[in-house]
Amino acid sequence: MPYLSLDVGELDANCYLFYDDAGRDCLVIDPGAEAERIMELIEERALLPRAVVLTHGHPDHTGAAATLMARYRIPLWLHAADEEAMRSEAGRGLAAMFGVGPLPAAGRLLRDGDILACGALELKVIHSPGHSPGSVLFHGQGLLFTGDTLFRGDVGRSDLPGGDGEELRRSLARIRKLPPHTVVLPGHGPASVLELELKDNPCL
Ligand SMILES: [Zn+2]
Ligand SMILES: [Zn+2]
Repeated sequence: MPYLSLDVGELDANCYLFYDDAGRDCLVIDPGAEAERIMELIEERALLPRAVVLTHGHPDHTGAAATLMARYRIPLWLHAADEEAMRSEAGRGLAAMFGVGPLPAAGRLLRDGDILACGALELKVIHSPGHSPGSVLFHGQGLLFTGDTLFRGDVGRSDLPGGDGEELRRSLARIRKLPPHTVVLPGHGPASVLELELKDNPCL
């Protein structure tokens, strides 16, 4: 499988390194905290980070982003709605509670249907608002990075600022149509397979 994962920070967020084994190109997905550990793994595997990519802008997923961006001179990619939410007063307040300062401006604002290239590999962006207005999923290579939209046996909360329960239900309806053998890689907790979630997850 073309990814590595580390669980980082006090909320045990999953940071994923999605990489192309041939060229070593790598996307750093949700570097939430513990930049040193993430960089150690990148260097141990001789990966070449090309961008920091966020499933959404909550600070438990962004805390190490600025350090990695500076270290590897790479851009930040996230959905426009969360770029905006992150910089709102509520967003800055939430980040301050995690000790996370403002991030450099996004180099690319993601949209539904965008393709993210990583060496010879690709991930497709699926906009999945509900947990936050700019939550996105990354789908490709049989994998689905779900951020805080879908977990094993549960879904993300929709009661934080910018959250919306009705939108979350619509986003989950799109997930249900993906191939059942898709590996689900959530923003917190263990991985799963969509088929199992369709069977066992009462929220899906
Ligand atoms: Zn979140
Ligand atoms: Zn989270």
